[in-house]
Amino acid sequence: MNIILLGAPGAGKGTQASKIASKYNLLHISTGDIFRANIKGGTEIGKLAKSYIDAGKLVPDEVTCKIVEDRLTWDDAKSGYMLDGFPRNLYQAQELDKFAKIDLCLNINVDEALLMDRICGRRVCSCGESYHVSTLNGATTCAKCGNELYQRADDNPETVKARLDTYNTQTAPLIDYYEKQGKLACVTSGEGSPDEVFEQIKKILG
Ligand code: AMP
Repeated sequence: MNIILLGAPGAGKGTQASKIASKYNLLHISTGDIFRANIKGGTEIGKLAKSYIDAGKLVPDEVTCKIVEDRLTWDDAKSGYMLDGFPRNLYQAQELDKFAKIDLCLNINVDEALLMDRICGRRVCSCGESYHVSTLNGATTCAKCGNELYQRADDNPETVKARLDTYNTQTAPLIDYYEKQGKLACVTSGEGSPDEVFEQIKKILG
């Protein structure tokens, strides 16, 4: 099974992706994580991506599509994967259709008013766990692995506003795209707790 996770920044894609990946044994491919790893490693892709990410814009399609196309040829992608953060516009979706067979697009819908607070209050760990400051009770380390938590560089109000604009203009039209293909499944209660949202996803995935 090959799945796309769709949703605005802050909709909880990363959190749900970890849960889905472990329950359904799917490879989790996050383009955002790939770019962040490249930025940390100081690669050419990282240098290019940083300026776009800092501005809340999309990294150019040719670069992004090539990364995903290559990644899907690895052996570990053969038995099913979940794309988190890709595709993010119609061009990428059309390109993806040329090199992959997607079974389902899971759209996590969250009230826009909540997104800004969710993202600006987000603290993440290098192990992939994600928290909201309101639930941390002052803790600064990850409950799962003990590493220090940090705030993503692009999780600041100015960049988040640009990311939400980018989502509304470029990514949201994909909901229609996958609906027309008969592949869309919507999680309508994305405002719930991570476990509540995952319950809904399990009902969809069976
Ligand atoms: P994310 O971790 O999914 O929120 O992605 C962080 C940032 O990486 C986005 O705001 C974009 O700048 C960039 N990015 C991630 N995925 C893509 C994509 N599919 N196409 C272009 N840029 C992307």
